[in-house]
Amino acid sequence: MTNQEWTERYTGALMNTFGPPKLVLTRGRGAHVWDEDGTEYVDLLGGIAVNSLGHAHPALLEAVTGQLGTLGHISNFFASEPQVRLAERLLDLVGRVASDTERIETPGRVFFANSGAEANEAAFKLTRRTGRTHVVAAQGGFHGRTMGALALTSKEAYRTPFEPLPGDVTFVPYGDAEALAAAVTDETAAILLEPIQGEAGVVIPPDGYLAAARAIATEHGALLWLDEVQTGIGRTGRWFAHQKPGAGEVTPDIVTVAKGLAGGIPIGACIGLGAAATLFEPGNHGTTFGGNPVACAAALAVIDTIEADGLLEHVTVLGHKLRDGLAANPRVTEVRGEGLLIGLDLATESSADVAAAALAHGFIVNNPTPARIRLAPPLVLTQDDADAFLAAWPAILDEAMGATTP
Ligand SMILES: *Cc1c(COP(=O)(O)O)cnc(C)c1O
Repeated sequence: MTNQEWTERYTGALMNTFGPPKLVLTRGRGAHVWDEDGTEYVDLLGGIAVNSLGHAHPALLEAVTGQLGTLGHISNFFASEPQVRLAERLLDLVGRVASDTERIETPGRVFFANSGAEANEAAFKLTRRTGRTHVVAAQGGFHGRTMGALALTSKEAYRTPFEPLPGDVTFVPYGDAEALAAAVTDETAAILLEPIQGEAGVVIPPDGYLAAARAIATEHGALLWLDEVQTGIGRTGRWFAHQKPGAGEVTPDIVTVAKGLAGGIPIGACIGLGAAATLFEPGNHGTTFGGNPVACAAALAVIDTIEADGLLEHVTVLGHKLRDGLAANPRVTEVRGEGLLIGLDLATESSADVAAAALAHGFIVNNPTPARIRLAPPLVLTQDDADAFLAAWPAILDEAMGATTP
């Protein structure tokens, strides 16, 4: 079967929520994937920041098959070792701030779900347990497609067809601490922010913004909820994006994670710290699959591998090289990012053409907005793969945007 034949069958059998697929993929290894026609690609999107260890990583394979062969699913009437160990591990990682004196000593608790949207649904419900309903979130933010997560997402095109959505959400410009201070009141349950906005095209707030959000939340008795679904678990070269030494380092009340956590096995987690850890009581929330032993074993393997292979350092170094190389082109007006979450602005609204040209050159990249390209490759991306992309980059831009500079 060819890409073309499978695509026709796809269109006949699947709901049209994503538009036509770009390729039909058959296998992967490391940061490489192959399609139905046998063509090889370097995967610089990593399943949208999900395949932390790339494709077919032996540690993930062993963890998943080993756990499935031992105990694959129970239910939340029962507990399992991987689930408990992963919750403890996440609490340890989220408590690691650069300055040891500020290490979070308050209790934390984890609720496991199966996706980013579900982790956010759990957190949204958790905020309601404060007795308040008002949430302040950011314009351009993305928190998922379920009704609750959508209510917290500002993009009109996503929201409008599904209104009315759960209410009492105020959207403020991202990165503007004054606007945030003006919107939060003593009736506000939570401030919800991505430490770096991923779907908006990798938008980094000004230094001190998260610290200001922390101070504003504390002043009004509101919770600071950070959505680290895209930025968490090593993506930025730190375990969590909010652990940036200096003004970027804050202590949140709620952190949600998902995408890269289990390297491709569905999982989500809502981490509550301090008072937020114990807001749920029995019966307040639940899930059948959440905390599944296979997903938790996979996440433990991802975390162990990031640690054992020094991937945080690797991600930081490689991210710098990629950003420098991508910026060295007059048709690129700005390159942003931390670690291997990279966004860049093109001089014209040609991101779809650039993504298509990259694909034709054997590189998978993403175009989240008309003039922005995003890269979120596996954390195990090699220097050689990065170099190959940088070598092809000028020709990709020539083909997509014309050989003359704007
Ligand atoms: C992807 C994403 C989500 C939604 O995650 P799903 O697993 O697709 O439900 C939520 N928040 C952020 C910041 C994301 O990037």
